[in-house]
Amino acid sequence: MLSRRAFLSGAAAAIAGRAVRVAGQARTFDLMIKGGRVIDPSARLDGIRDVAIAGGRITAINANLTASAAETIDARGKLVVPGLLDIHTHVARSADGPPLVLQDGVTGWIDAGSQGADHIADTIAVARSSAQQGRVLINIGRAGILPEGDTMDLARADVSAAKEAISKNRDFIVGVKARLSRDVAGANDYEVLRRAQEVASSFSLPVMIHMGQTISPLPKLVDLLKRGDIVTHMFAPPPNSIIDDSGRILPAVLAARQRGVWFDVGNGMTGHLRWDTVDAIVKARFWPDTFSTDWNTNSRQTGVIDLPNCMSKLLGYGMTVPEAVARVTVNASRTFPVFKDRGTLKVGAPADVAVLELREGTFEFLDNFNGKITGRQRFFPSATVLAGKRIART
Ligand SMILES: [Zn+2]
Repeated sequence: MLSRRAFLSGAAAAIAGRAVRVAGQARTFDLMIKGGRVIDPSARLDGIRDVAIAGGRITAINANLTASAAETIDARGKLVVPGLLDIHTHVARSADGPPLVLQDGVTGWIDAGSQGADHIADTIAVARSSAQQGRVLINIGRAGILPEGDTMDLARADVSAAKEAISKNRDFIVGVKARLSRDVAGANDYEVLRRAQEVASSFSLPVMIHMGQTISPLPKLVDLLKRGDIVTHMFAPPPNSIIDDSGRILPAVLAARQRGVWFDVGNGMTGHLRWDTVDAIVKARFWPDTFSTDWNTNSRQTGVIDLPNCMSKLLGYGMTVPEAVARVTVNASRTFPVFKDRGTLKVGAPADVAVLELREGTFEFLDNFNGKITGRQRFFPSATVLAGKRIART
């Protein structure tokens, strides 16, 4: 005999089932992600839901979907979030890059200036063959990233070469990268950025600057940035960080955010992130717009590990889980038009989904200076769905 409780929950299920039929939606889905904590900041959604996918699109999100599906992912105890977007990577340096980050839940990536005009075809070839969306920023230094410094020789910041490369590859080049540190551009930093902006503006594209340890004062550089441009490595320590010694965010930085310049983490490996600088910047309540990895094929052996790990680093500073998710989904989708319909689980959107685990415990997070902090929570990748299809884990 049924207990009253079992009878009631059975009745509730019957009602839910009837509701589906009444709405004319009794159907078979291609894929169902069942019972996870769905966090979609684009819809201000944070709750236990089932996500149904058909024809490569999100078809329904509901608390208890009873329709059948060809395949089911059991997401109980896990997070279900829009596919992650990583706007500062070097994924396109290797054909192995795209499938590796796809395993981490990254369904869209930007290669941020691995190559300049001379070899841009190499990174575009990787982007073209990537299963997920991948696009590139062209390095204003025509030879790309050089150990001796991309634009130490100012002649390498070649405006006409960059313009020609962009006009031939409008579909894959989505912006211009200017790396401005002392060891990359030397005293040329301001002129390199001026040239990058000249190129980008002529195509209405954004510039991404690599800040930190520049020779020119940061305000002089930031003042050249327009709405939609991106400052990466925003947690870089002095000289020329975004905050002064007394803990105030520089007025030029506040003004840049005010006019629509984005501030990105760009975790990386050397010189870009130091815990005392992070501490001062978040104390001033200047939170990043986006998290990114500055990923390369060695990242797993560094403090980067993967994008979910980089997303975890501010949880101990008071950032909430949905706020962290927003920074690699809806916020990131606004930075480049190629991601305009991504970073969301709204019904009708392309079905790019990341299933993550949010583990509780004691986790060590590294900066770029062998500094360690301990956190109580860390995101781990669990499953990736791209265009409605579950990606096999390797
Ligand atoms: Zn980089």
